[in-house]
Amino acid sequence: MAKIEVKKLNFYYGNYQALKNVNMNIEENEITSLIGPSGCGKSTFLRSINRMNDLIEIARYEGEILLDGKNIFSKDCDLVQLRKRIGMVFQKPNPFPKSVYENLIYAPKIHGEKSKVVLEEIVEKSLKAVNLWDEVKDKLHKSALSLSGGQQQRLCIARAISIKPEILLMDEPTSALDPISTSKIEELIMELRANYAIVIVTHNMQQASRISDKTGFFFQGELIEYGKTTDMFTIPKNKKTEDYITGRFG
Ligand code: ADP
Repeated sequence: MAKIEVKKLNFYYGNYQALKNVNMNIEENEITSLIGPSGCGKSTFLRSINRMNDLIEIARYEGEILLDGKNIFSKDCDLVQLRKRIGMVFQKPNPFPKSVYENLIYAPKIHGEKSKVVLEEIVEKSLKAVNLWDEVKDKLHKSALSLSGGQQQRLCIARAISIKPEILLMDEPTSALDPISTSKIEELIMELRANYAIVIVTHNMQQASRISDKTGFFFQGELIEYGKTTDMFTIPKNKKTEDYITGRFG
């Protein structure tokens, strides 16, 4: 069974249909990239997986998203628990305006962790997991905003994994970063694959082809093609995919 099974997902903002009959299986220990021109529904799809779109009043869903076989749209789905299992990282690094340390203990504390020793362990482990420990171990009590953009984004990934999620959703996580920070984050994402299912929205096709196992191409709310990244970039099945990846539009 796939970690996440999306079945016949339709999504509406009021009368506007942003996703049309999307079916997709997302596997554990794989990186799945979502590509497609701006406005085609990639972020909407990503935000459906942890029900972030619920915050939008006019949002409406049809279909199912099964997480380990259980529909996340069912009435008994606990949203706090769901978002603990599914971490999210955004385009612009958005650490809290607090210390590095406080950024990392915030979510574990909300989820009930009180032991200082355990919290200290979480801080160290999360920072090591994102290859940031050596850079910030002497600055744990400095403001997170004093770090560089790339360091802030790695801190946000560390914050997302501080509560041991099973899935990481990333919405263009490198688009605000310089090339060196971008390549560090790409390496990190590939390391994290060993422990998580990762879904990443990217407008950067080279990035999708460099790091992802599977790629989905969205166009006007439809998932036009989905499969192994190497296949999609070498022998796309659909003419629209081919036109997009060869740069004929976008
Ligand atoms: P992408 O991530 O591919 O750029 P989005 O998922 O952000 O695309 O947007 C898909 C479509 O839904 C776009 O036409 C966009 O204008 C529309 N949309 C996105 N967010 C909202 C919202 N909060 N309210 C109304 N329409 C929205």
